[in-house]
Amino acid sequence: MSNPNYIGRFAPSPTGPLHFGSLLAALASYLDAKSQQGTWLVRIEDLDPPREDPTAANAILRILDDYQLHWDGRVVYQSQQHAHYQAALEQLIAQNRAFPCQCTRKQLSSQHGKHFGRCSPPTHADFAWRFLASTEITTCHDRLQPSQIYAADQLGDCVIRRRDHYWSYQLAVVVDDALSGVTDVVRGIDLIDSTPWQQQLQYRLGYATPRYAHIPVATEANGQKLSKQNFAKPLTSDDSGATLWQALHWLRQDPPLDLQNSGNALLLQWAIEHWQIHRLQQCTQLSAPPHFQNPL
Ligand code: GLU
Repeated sequence: MSNPNYIGRFAPSPTGPLHFGSLLAALASYLDAKSQQGTWLVRIEDLDPPREDPTAANAILRILDDYQLHWDGRVVYQSQQHAHYQAALEQLIAQNRAFPCQCTRKQLSSQHGKHFGRCSPPTHADFAWRFLASTEITTCHDRLQPSQIYAADQLGDCVIRRRDHYWSYQLAVVVDDALSGVTDVVRGIDLIDSTPWQQQLQYRLGYATPRYAHIPVATEANGQKLSKQNFAKPLTSDDSGATLWQALHWLRQDPPLDLQNSGNALLLQWAIEHWQIHRLQQCTQLSAPPHFQNPL
């Protein structure tokens, strides 16, 4: 019997293969869910075809499977959820919380790219929809990071449907988390500043706010974030046990040496039983413990 009070998820964007940094996010959300007998879902965030690699979604799922990070239920693809995003947009329009906007990047440059309040009505069909952000401060609590307080003038009105008619990440993530009943979001700290918009959208759409835990971002020895942009090496299925064992060390879980070659199933079982998320508390960067070889 799974714990109905815990539904977690891993939500990769299929812009490239899984690398070590995204494995840390996947593993942390998996272990947090499984250590509480929760459900762990996988959602492919394929919202932005021009930036995607058509082979990436399957490659990501294959790697998760090879690592034995087995998800529950069916994989959700955001490309198949457009009707739900449209319904949410209509709900926000009906509440006067969404407005059309044709402001250009250049026009917003004096406000650091931020947009505040309604603007002139559109003059042609080419416009974005923005969410009218609250003028109150937004406080975001986190299981790992100090509470973050965002003033209205820090946030501005985020885009929820882009001018090129693609749905924005902010709206899609909120709608899908709610539709899947997600109670716990464990993801990289690089997304922490999206949380206030997501909380505001949840409130306006009548959804519950999940618990959040933002895990530190993995960095290379030179302090740069491991990401697809700086060519972090794609994970392969070879040596998945050794990589998983290293990933547990990066997550400060200290798996015993004798589990290094014991196979993924046993290693994950150990990690579920010993998961201590609080070891990641208030640390902003993860890097290889000094006695480890860098996986890159
Ligand atoms: N799709 C996002 C990414 O790959 C993650 C979204 C989330 O976890 O909220 O960075």
